[in-house]
Amino acid sequence: MHELGVANEILDIALSEAGRHAAKKVTSIRLRVGVLRAIESGNLSFLFEHLARGTPAEGAHLEIVEEPVRVECDACGVSEAASFLLECPRCKGSGVSVTGGDSLSILSLDVDA
Ligand SMILES: [Zn+2]
Repeated sequence: MHELGVANEILDIALSEAGRHAAKKVTSIRLRVGVLRAIESGNLSFLFEHLARGTPAEGAHLEIVEEPVRVECDACGVSEAASFLLECPRCKGSGVSVTGGDSLSILSLDVDA
């Protein structure tokens, strides 16, 4: 249930942004979430909706953009994967480095003044 902590964090950021812009309402929030975070988006939306009740972020739409893992292989370049890998998904080579896939950030936020 680590979605609850994440939902809380998003709400905090959304509310402080709304405050900074003297906005009455947060209408939508775009998030980038890495697949390695293993966040269930339906669950996250549900918890957020619950926490946001009675705040300016009530009813805000959560748009979740998944960030895949990037696997960089010495032999065949970059590919994307849905989980952490120790070998290249194409050539099964082990000369890989894995980057990305663990983001958790707010890309944009729409507010109503
Ligand atoms: Zn490869």
